[in-house]
Amino acid sequence: MPTLDDPRRLLAEAAEHHRRARTLIERAVAVRERALAIIGELTHVLAGAQQERQRAARPREKYERRCPRCASTQFETTGSIRAEKGLFKISGRCGSCGKPYIFVNLRR
Ligand SMILES: [Zn+2]
Repeated sequence: MPTLDDPRRLLAEAAEHHRRARTLIERAVAVRERALAIIGELTHVLAGAQQERQRAARPREKYERRCPRCASTQFETTGSIRAEKGLFKISGRCGSCGKPYIFVNLRR
């Protein structure tokens, strides 16, 4: 036979479960926010590293026909010439040591 204590005990139990659930949800939200912040930072760092790699991989631009490695003035074009902001950018390599670089010349 049920007594009056049963529904009171059940209500108290429900309140306790509710309190615990709220604490867990608050923790989950905090953990999620922290994870998103870390992902944001990592994405930023990785994007910077990727840009740095691309910069390093691109041949150097030189405004004189002189090898950035050995200073030789021999230059062999590799076929690609593009016009950019009033300048000619000629892809090539050093005729002496083979170092690739881009010779930038005034457009005329
Ligand atoms: Zn060279």
